[in-house]
Amino acid sequence: MNDEQKHEEIHAILKTVDDPELPSVSVVDLGMVHEVTIDQSKVSITMVPTFAGCPALDFIEKNVKSAVGNIDWVEDCLVAFSFQKKWSTDAITDEGKEQLKKHGVSPPPENYRPGEEWSVNCPYCGSAFTSMENVFGPTACRSILYCGSCKNPFEAMKPVVNYSIVY
Ligand SMILES: [Zn+2]
Repeated sequence: MNDEQKHEEIHAILKTVDDPELPSVSVVDLGMVHEVTIDQSKVSITMVPTFAGCPALDFIEKNVKSAVGNIDWVEDCLVAFSFQKKWSTDAITDEGKEQLKKHGVSPPPENYRPGEEWSVNCPYCGSAFTSMENVFGPTACRSILYCGSCKNPFEAMKPVVNYSIVY
């Protein structure tokens, strides 16, 4: 197996690892996988954390390690989070956004600038006639909204732009 095939295999495996806070959206489609390097049977993966202080990071690291570790030629898998590179919700792939919608979560707006009002379209019917029910959704990164057209409650991911971490 050459390196290119190995990279493809790693990529395919990473597509099966979800963020536990956003079920069904893989770490690849969330734009969290920054770099994969392969040296013979050693794999090291650099990931960009999504939401600051997301408690799911340990969990994601464990899941990535065990998924990649299941590949027969992999002997060692290192996962590191890079806090230098900034993640924003614009890094979510189109496929990731489709997955979010399928699960009743409206994807965040694109090219959002901090302080701007953002309108959220209903993930079920596409209507913009929606209202914020509760800014504090089930997790820090989601809010609960209500659609005035199809009368469904739904969730929306908040836009995240270049957060910085303060220690
Ligand atoms: Zn609707």
